Amino acid sequence: MDTSAFQPMQGMTDLAAPEIALWQRLEAEARRTLALYGFTEVRTPVVEQTAVFTRSLGETTDVVQKEMYTFTDRGGRSLTLRPEGTAGVIRYALGLGVESDGARLYYIGPMFRCERPQAGRKRQFHQLGVEAFGAPNPAADAEIIAMQLHLLEAWGLKGFTLDLNTRGVPEDRPAVTQGLADAARPHLGALCADCQRRFETNILRLLDCKKESCRQIVAGLPPTTQFMSAESRQYLDEVLRLLQKIGVPARVNPQLVRGLDYYVHTVWEIRHGALGAQDALSGGGRYRVTMGDKTFDGVGFAIGLERAIMAVQKDNPTLTQEQPRLMVWLVSMGAAALTANLDLAQNLRRQGVACGLDLAARSMKAQMRAANKSGATTVLIRGDQELEQGTVTLKNMADGTQQAVPLAELTARLM
Ligand code: AMP
Repeated sequence: MDTSAFQPMQGMTDLAAPEIALWQRLEAEARRTLALYGFTEVRTPVVEQTAVFTRSLGETTDVVQKEMYTFTDRGGRSLTLRPEGTAGVIRYALGLGVESDGARLYYIGPMFRCERPQAGRKRQFHQLGVEAFGAPNPAADAEIIAMQLHLLEAWGLKGFTLDLNTRGVPEDRPAVTQGLADAARPHLGALCADCQRRFETNILRLLDCKKESCRQIVAGLPPTTQFMSAESRQYLDEVLRLLQKIGVPARVNPQLVRGLDYYVHTVWEIRHGALGAQDALSGGGRYRVTMGDKTFDGVGFAIGLERAIMAVQKDNPTLTQEQPRLMVWLVSMGAAALTANLDLAQNLRRQGVACGLDLAARSMKAQMRAANKSGATTVLIRGDQELEQGTVTLKNMADGTQQAVPLAELTARLM
């Protein structure tokens, strides 16, 4: 039989125990930290009308041109699996109307990009992202960056660096495009095929080409700030001043552009040494997106959770260890004891004690094997004799000692 039909799609994986425990720890820690800054969660659909993404992310971005899972549904509509979270959150904020101003929202969930799968690059991956809506303000950008570092520290991460740059205001674009084109034109023939296309469609993207031959050329180009307005340069300076004041180490990387068209002013990226070739842990920036008849100003970031997990496994291995917990395994000798144990297990679970028991009334030996395998700290044994006397036999799995305990004292004894 051909079983390939029952495999997950390439670049998509199942997430389950034991690693899922670490995902849950990171998510819980993130929820706690983000709440300190007044953020609340939003869960938007994973499928949106394609225009939600094409209009906001920009028609010429790589994500829109090459990476979206777009399909026509039965009603003939063009739909897309979300490749990122910001567009959906803005679509949601549009429905909020005036209340969206000042809104602070975060999301955690899967994103879909039809990229060539490789180490660190999946087709379904997960992001934790935040969006803070409000007019451009260097203090808002600095606060969000500081919050992000607070979160990474709460996860126990250390080996990361923060690169920062500015995209300037939209009015700077013609001068930046012109200035870069003039500087890059003499090298056009030496650029890779992708960059030759970008030269025409989206020249900024030249700056973050990963090919070594392009990088050498790019290193010789003037920084884009040289072509920007004084307003844009002052905005960047103020963000840097504030970050320094609040103790956030950032360095300006003039080659940093980020992939999407909607960015204005501050953009940043966080890299981590444990991630190998795909070392970007997170990207963020300030954006201006027009959707419907409304323009949204906001600042936010998205952290790749698969990569965050890898980084945590390196920097904070104790977080990855299973937490010891009280667990009782109930062993039943005979049908009457099984019925009584089923009831007792429910009572214990209501009091917060994790319980397991053999439901197939197997032999004592098989039940003890199961108890061992479960990792239970205590085994509770009952047969006809215990039922008659109103007791249970407790076996301490650490030292093997056994003791009869009256049922009435059980909870106190377990706790
Ligand atoms: P981006 O907005 O594309 O910079 O994505 C933000 C973060 O999501 C990146 O820094 C990565 O950590 C993560 N990410 C993006 N694309 C992928 C992918 N294909 N597989 C795994 N993680 C990804």
